[in-house]
Amino acid sequence: MKRILTGDRPTADKFHLGNYIGKLKNTVKLQDQYETFVPLVDLHALTTYFDQTEKLEANMKSLGLDYLSVGLDPNKTTIFIQSKVPEIVEIAYFLSVLTPRSIIARQPALKEKLDAGEQDTVGLFYYPILMAADILTFKANLVPVGKDQKAHVEFARDIAKKFNDLYGEVFILPEPLIGEVPTLPGTDGQTKMGKSLGNAIFLTDSPEEVEKKVMSMYTDPTRIHPTDPGHVEGNPVFIYLDAFGSEADKPQTTNYKLLYQKGQVGDIEVKKYLVKVLNNFLDPIRQRRDELEKEPGLVERILKEGTEKARIEAQKTLAEVKKAMKLDYF
Ligand code: ATP
Ligand code: MG
Repeated sequence: MKRILTGDRPTADKFHLGNYIGKLKNTVKLQDQYETFVPLVDLHALTTYFDQTEKLEANMKSLGLDYLSVGLDPNKTTIFIQSKVPEIVEIAYFLSVLTPRSIIARQPALKEKLDAGEQDTVGLFYYPILMAADILTFKANLVPVGKDQKAHVEFARDIAKKFNDLYGEVFILPEPLIGEVPTLPGTDGQTKMGKSLGNAIFLTDSPEEVEKKVMSMYTDPTRIHPTDPGHVEGNPVFIYLDAFGSEADKPQTTNYKLLYQKGQVGDIEVKKYLVKVLNNFLDPIRQRRDELEKEPGLVERILKEGTEKARIEAQKTLAEVKKAMKLDYF
């Protein structure tokens, strides 16, 4: 069976709509066809959270609940904690000696993180290598990610090939799988919704919070009066409607698009409709989460079992790596 791996940084205790449409949706859909590994990558979170490490445990428990609420099934998907599988770090080191510094220095996501104010540490520089190790340790064929992470998967593929060419076939060459919306914009109209950007609608937001965020959302900046012809392309309100509306919502969405372009409907009416659409989408997730919260210790147990299983796989790959590199001394 082919494999999937896709991780998340526990830099917050909840996922947003961008995380969902960028990768969680694909992961849930494909878990029946692929052996799926989903690490909570706390080591990657450390590049941002090295001075707030006390938050990581609670964040991971909460994100674990979100995973289950959106439909990840622990019987099909191995959910685990990255730092509890130290073999990944060892494999990352072996990859690092094959990696020219200049390739890492060119990674666009690294520059984005520095621009966003992250400290320019060796740890941050090392992050694409560690991410490659996450993927390669589990021999993933497919890596569901948002567009911002695509280059890192391509790097993982290149470094896997280099290793295989040098030492023999150990690693699988992974492919990125980008979600149906490659980068969901934020409620503020910024290109990317982000956990740490203050522009996110979270899967656990209450109906009232969703309403508040949507009603103050960015739409078409060129449109001043509801009678002005409006733009639908690139307008976050319509991007969200397309992404989160059900089949049954489609005719109404199409209708609003036409009216909007002709200047025959106001922002407020369309936003009210979006509130309804988003709350309909989020309701079953909220309900599942409420149910799951009633089971104390559930997430801890799933993470523990998942980590044990992941560790066995990682140990196998590490042994293969060492053998291929002739480091399996007496
Ligand atoms: P942070 O701001 O802390 O980096 P984040 O919101 O970017 O948080 P990550 O944990 O870095 O979330 O990313 C988890 C996954 O979600 C990655 O695969 C990433 O590509 C994807 N993702 C994040 N934001 C978006 C978005 N706005 N649209 C589509 N995919 C996204
Ligand atoms: Mg990110």
